[in-house]
Amino acid sequence: MYTAASNRYDSMKYNRCGKSGLLLPAISLGLWQNFGNANELKGMQAILVAAFDKGITHFDLANNYGPPAGEAERNFGKILSSELSAYRDELIISTKAGYYMWPGPYGDWGSKKYLTASIDQSLKRMGLEYVDIFYSHRPDPNTAIEETMQALDQIVRSGKALYAGISNYSAAQTKQAAAVLKTLGTPCVIHQPRYSLLDRWVEKKTTSQNESLLDVVGNEGMGCIVFSPLAQGRLTDKYLNGIPADSRVGRSLPNGAILPKDLNEEMLGKISQLNALAVQRNQSLAQMAIAWLLKDERVTSVLMGASSVAQLHNSLDALTNLSFTAEELLRIEEILES
Ligand code: NDP
Repeated sequence: MYTAASNRYDSMKYNRCGKSGLLLPAISLGLWQNFGNANELKGMQAILVAAFDKGITHFDLANNYGPPAGEAERNFGKILSSELSAYRDELIISTKAGYYMWPGPYGDWGSKKYLTASIDQSLKRMGLEYVDIFYSHRPDPNTAIEETMQALDQIVRSGKALYAGISNYSAAQTKQAAAVLKTLGTPCVIHQPRYSLLDRWVEKKTTSQNESLLDVVGNEGMGCIVFSPLAQGRLTDKYLNGIPADSRVGRSLPNGAILPKDLNEEMLGKISQLNALAVQRNQSLAQMAIAWLLKDERVTSVLMGASSVAQLHNSLDALTNLSFTAEELLRIEEILES
């Protein structure tokens, strides 16, 4: 039986999630791609306990994570019950619904019917009485935002989740969602968008009031946890000399994973220059990519993935150097624009 490291809270930094009472670790761990059927339970267990030993208190899931869909929650539930159950009150566990999960009209998008059924299925798969955060995984263009938010409000009121969140909503949709939830009396505590050096849509001013998603999140007092901070592994040195067979690209995974076409010559040129800058900073590129995200105070947590304990430890060391000189920041912009 696992006993957590007694020094687990010594090196992690905890940031307040917007104006809520919730603190999240500056680095959280997601279970999207490395916790499905193709992976050994032992390896997954090693990653999860190593993360907890380093102060990662937040694990992020979704109903459809695997592959196949549902399997990451099932595997997480097994490891939780065998290793981590004594620490439930030290953990923030999140899940989501919004992408395709089961056939027919009620297993996809943002209806109250889907979200209500899905949270029950997720709790069962993980063997939990409640999750800490429940998200609408994506906006639904064919369901009124009021209905999706009512579903989140209801789920929180029923005690099946403690906090409500949204993911992949635009800046304007986020304002709307936050306003509806405020009226219902359940705050929108967190947004989960994609954000990395290679994908900066959250910085773009898109609303009629010239606000970016990060502006909206800050103004609304919401927290922000950013996913795919390493652009699924491209912001590391692993693809600089070809595609390793055991990498995400090499494994040719389904459902949104990066593909060889995402590693064209122009991309590899940028990665190689970013890598050279990271080396100058005595960091790995993964560490620099994570540190760069954390320099914005509106970013509560960086939600990374890891396929091994070594990767997890390497990425966590980002916390030992989070500062950038003005020259370094300028150089990053030059590389990205080149
Ligand atoms: P990352 O961008 O962190 O990519 C993780 C991958 O990068 C790992 O699987 C590994 O690739 C590689 N890697 C990680 N650390 C290192 C390192 N130090 N050195 C070398 N390679 C490294 O994040 P993900 O794309 O995995 O997303 C993270 C989480 O975000 C998900 O698990 C999920 O919780 C959430 N997410 C949410 C979405 C949403 O719509 N809300 C969508 C997607 C993700 P390899 O496997 O090749 O070894």
